[in-house]
Amino acid sequence: AAKAAGRDRYALFDPAMYADILREADERAELERALAAEEFVVYYQPIVDLPTSRLIGVEALVRWEHPLRGLVGPNAFIPLAESTGLIVPLGRWVLRQACRQLAQWCADYPDTERIRMNVNLSARQFQHEGLVEEVGQILAETGVNPHQVVLEITESLLMQDTDSTIETLGRLKQLGVRLAIDDFGTGYSSLSYLKRFPVDILKIDRSFVDGIDTEHGDATLAEAVVQLGRALQLQTVAEGIETQEQWSTLQDLGCEFGQGYLFAKPGAAETIASILGGAKPS
Ligand code: C2E
Ligand code: MG
Ligand code: MG
Ligand code: MG
Repeated sequence: AAKAAGRDRYALFDPAMYADILREADERAELERALAAEEFVVYYQPIVDLPTSRLIGVEALVRWEHPLRGLVGPNAFIPLAESTGLIVPLGRWVLRQACRQLAQWCADYPDTERIRMNVNLSARQFQHEGLVEEVGQILAETGVNPHQVVLEITESLLMQDTDSTIETLGRLKQLGVRLAIDDFGTGYSSLSYLKRFPVDILKIDRSFVDGIDTEHGDATLAEAVVQLGRALQLQTVAEGIETQEQWSTLQDLGCEFGQGYLFAKPGAAETIASILGGAKPS
């Protein structure tokens, strides 16, 4: 206890920590400014049917068009958005943007009713009280078919396994949206939650796809996830497919869907429009 108290006291006067606090306050202000100035943009990455490589949906992935730094990826600002709570308005903006885009594509291209729109939800957003109402509101205002919307959540969120988690998932499902577990396999070892929670889709984490042809353990794990999905009647989507070999191995394992640079990198909405308009994903 004495040691802990000493550490606390030290931390209170630590100039490096003070600098951290100032920097965080700066960065927070910068994020708030960017949100108000609408400097964010949503990119879309195709998700394909593995046997045919046909487009079955897209994942919405946010970027920051920074006036000085250029296009900034989410790994550089999502953690701060999470810790400051700004992820709540930012995430709402992304969902609204993605649903508007989906509605637009459905209006422009007749075949788009089968396309799904995946949107990431962070833990902080999930815990935000107004979440379900906001999702319902965005679905209503954009007029999209809720069945075309997939919310991606993480395993660690499900592991919190509280009554309120189950309740929120149930209420989201009642809106008609589908639920996917993102980065599946990287979280926790207990799988019992899969039975209890109303999820529809497992996304196999890229780290397993990476070594699928070189590291025996990865192929075994990927196969186990696909079989688990089949046993529980969940769809499986492999993330981060970069090579022909990974593509064919995943098909051999029975994985239905995939996403990765081999098919297409995340791109601006126009790149998806050209696929919907008849061009092949490239
Ligand atoms: P994620 O949801 O797992 O998204 C997949 C990430 O893998 C994306 O990175 C995508 O560009 C990348 N990826 C896809 N295929 C390949 C591939 O073949 N090779 C490699 N090396 N990477 C591939 P990105 O866009 O940088 O996003 C990173 C993470 O940031 C996302 O991981 C997600 O957790 C988070 N994120 C992105 N947008 C949002 C958002 O709107 N809200 C929230 N809460 N999180 C978001
Ligand atoms: Mg995701
Ligand atoms: Mg993922
Ligand atoms: Mg990931």
